[in-house]
Amino acid sequence: TQFSELGLAAPLLRALEEAGYETPTPIQAQAIPTVLEGRDLLGIAQTGTGKTAAFALPILHRLAAKGGRPPRGGCRVLVLSPTRELSSQIADSFREYGKHLGLSVAVVFGGVPHGAQRRALAAGIDVLVATPGRLLDHMGAGTARLDRVEVLVLDEADQMLDQGFLPAIRKVVAALPKQGRQTLFFSATMPNEIGRLASELLHNPARVEV
Ligand code: AMP
Repeated sequence: TQFSELGLAAPLLRALEEAGYETPTPIQAQAIPTVLEGRDLLGIAQTGTGKTAAFALPILHRLAAKGGRPPRGGCRVLVLSPTRELSSQIADSFREYGKHLGLSVAVVFGGVPHGAQRRALAAGIDVLVATPGRLLDHMGAGTARLDRVEVLVLDEADQMLDQGFLPAIRKVVAALPKQGRQTLFFSATMPNEIGRLASELLHNPARVEV
């Protein structure tokens, strides 16, 4: 399979070429067409498999194809990840793949002052990558509105569970629109608690395991 066969828009293919990506990894070849169709996805995959591009590319394609502006005080795509390092890497990937699309990307995590994050949220962002605890702080302070989220991604769900983020995840999910949302759920392992959370959040998901 080639990237050009997966249905991605030309500006994304150009960014991939510039990044030196030649062929899709197995999870990319399986996940990208499914996510482009708008389906929910359960991905069982480790870091290093190319899972970030497997969700970032089709999400960017759909945002650009739909057009529209990010809501003030909120975002269109919300990615939850367990650590500041992973959150920063995910945001960098969205910026790299989306560099010809003119979309905005921001990252929110703990251990740093709230001010810059608050200003980015106030303007409205297309893609927000966040750790659950700091996002909850912003929700409590009224500086993050999640009622216009179109796509939710949970990355490394098992790690988020290990870090005690399950209650925070549930509060975040409760603030999202119930109707018309696409949800992508990634975990390296599937313990019972993760399986339960996945079945609560996903609607008729495609399952991809690499
Ligand atoms: P991930 O599993 O998302 O953390 O990605 C692991 C690494 O593989 C990252 O450094 C990506 O930039 C790189 N990568 C992802 N997909 C491809 C691809 N199709 N071709 C070459 N490198 C890739």
